[in-house]
Amino acid sequence: MATIARVSVTATGRVVEIPTGLFINNEFVPSVDNQDLIDVYNPATEEKICSVVGASAADVDRAVKAARDAFNTTWGKNVSGFERARLINKLADLIDRDKDELAEIETLNNGKPFKIARDFDIGDTISCLRYYAGWADKIAGQTLEVDKNKWAYTKHEPIGVCGQIIPWNYPINMWSWKVAPALAVGCTIVMKPSEITPLTAQLLSKLIVEAGFPPGVINHVCSVGNVGGAAISAHMGIDKVAFTGSTVTGRKIMESAARSNLKKVTLELGGKSPHLVFESADLEEAAKWVCLGILYNSGQDCSAGSRLYVQDTIHDKFVSLLVQRAKELVIGDGFDEKSGGGPVVSKMQYDKIWSYIESGKADGATVVCGGQKRTSKGYYVDPTIFTNTREDMKIVKDEIFGPVLVVGKFKTEEEAIKLANDTSYGLGAGLHSNDAGQCLRVSNALESGTVWVNQYNLLTNNVPFGGKKQSGIGRELGSYAIEEYTSVKGVHWNYGEKLA
Ligand code: NAD
Repeated sequence: MATIARVSVTATGRVVEIPTGLFINNEFVPSVDNQDLIDVYNPATEEKICSVVGASAADVDRAVKAARDAFNTTWGKNVSGFERARLINKLADLIDRDKDELAEIETLNNGKPFKIARDFDIGDTISCLRYYAGWADKIAGQTLEVDKNKWAYTKHEPIGVCGQIIPWNYPINMWSWKVAPALAVGCTIVMKPSEITPLTAQLLSKLIVEAGFPPGVINHVCSVGNVGGAAISAHMGIDKVAFTGSTVTGRKIMESAARSNLKKVTLELGGKSPHLVFESADLEEAAKWVCLGILYNSGQDCSAGSRLYVQDTIHDKFVSLLVQRAKELVIGDGFDEKSGGGPVVSKMQYDKIWSYIESGKADGATVVCGGQKRTSKGYYVDPTIFTNTREDMKIVKDEIFGPVLVVGKFKTEEEAIKLANDTSYGLGAGLHSNDAGQCLRVSNALESGTVWVNQYNLLTNNVPFGGKKQSGIGRELGSYAIEEYTSVKGVHWNYGEKLA
């Protein structure tokens, strides 16, 4: 089936036409051999929105061939940086034009509030594309002195065909983090959106054609992970795979890349990020950042500040500020203007979060906020805060990926650092203090790819993001992402030496 689904957005009255086929060579096509469709749901109502075609390994093959042909002919080294920038900027303009429609579909499929989807997820997607369009004509190497008869230079060449596998928590925004730097340097793309939230990528496909990208430069193959994702990681014709998702899946992808063609691998994985509040901090402000850190996107955030450690002298006061703030956040349908947070993305995620909340209760932690299921429809989880936790509890050790915060205490700076670093993850970390020396000492000591000082969770396109330890390999955003998509060639040039 390669048809159009007419999706009604009840809240706004808009009817959106979503192509349901795979997007290969700028065309929507059915699978060559898979008749099973992927059903897509609205987490606020638990109702099916529509179904899309699921790619098989043979479809991934087709997409890789299209991407390779484009790389060798109409893209790659055959098109100037100026032209790549023009097309990327054009795509950004079209997304800007259609941002309301795209945001409505993102809210319908993912659950997040409409205004957040439009102004942040899609707003950041537009600026990410424009940021990397700016890089497209500035990819430069070095000239190197060798001796009086020779010199050398380096060329930063596009790595080739890139497989990109993304999750469901920021469907359109993760798409831009992957696609924008790859396009800027001249790579071609086989993208696999999450099977849970494929709809905005389906709409973006139409905009890719309208922007004027040559066929095969960007291909979308929605598929379940262990079919399409596995086919990408194992494919002999893919030069690099970029992945965002769970640590378990990241490990499989790396194994598969090693067993196939040793393709380059970058991984953005999970976390259990620590957030430290010292007694000198502005507590009112810190409480706002801590809430943002764990409740934004219903806690479905790889860098969510999910382990809070508070200095013992201010613990009780800070917890009451936090609970007050958390209770003010309205969790509801993403189309309701009052909602600051929506449902979690799926039944599976909802059940997983609730099993962690139950395990925290069973282990003897104290619930000071939330922790009660609603009886109405929709995968809603109200902000839940646990105190009196122990470091060996599952709720303290595991990534929950929901609006669940565990609060512990520390006496000294050394103890705070030790607790913060006692994890196999290393994605994000935050600290609040009005002592500049302490801010520097602690941020130097934290074992994570990102540290936020007196703020949390805010990212900008020019600053790299990625993990240490088991939170990942490589960096996204900034000039660092450009390096991840290029391969450096050293050219040695002799202009005088003769061999005897
Ligand atoms: P997931 O790992 O199950 O899925 C992510 C993507 O991988 C999906 O597209 C899925 O279809 C695909 N996939 C699944 N199995 C695969 C396989 N065997 N081979 C190849 N691809 C496969 O994760 P999820 O449940 O969609 O997302 C939540 C997880 O992602 C959380 O653990 C979270 O921490 C992590 N995450 C990390 C970041 C980051 O930037 N570090 C960002 C968002 C989410």
